[in-house]
Amino acid sequence: MTQYTNTISTFELLEKFPTEESARHYFEKKLWDNKPKCPSCANQTPTQVYHHPSRTGLYRCKCCQTQFSVRNNTVMHASKISLRKWLYGTIFNRDCS
Ligand SMILES: [Zn+2]
Repeated sequence: MTQYTNTISTFELLEKFPTEESARHYFEKKLWDNKPKCPSCANQTPTQVYHHPSRTGLYRCKCCQTQFSVRNNTVMHASKISLRKWLYGTIFNRDCS
């Protein structure tokens, strides 16, 4: 009897998420369904702002002017660890359980 599992190899993971931006898109889809949501007022029509190339994915709420990213209200919020590393850790921890 063949048992199928929903796992992904390290190579597949590196291929699927080769950049920080690809990891950010993954988290934005997973956490927001690609509709950025202000953590302060729950508004879903933010303006995307880019102050610096490393700040891609930073949004500003049109209602309350709060700046936020997909890291807000998550364990990743105060972390300087890249989203790619968070993604790899998330996926490998999930597959180990
Ligand atoms: Zn807001």
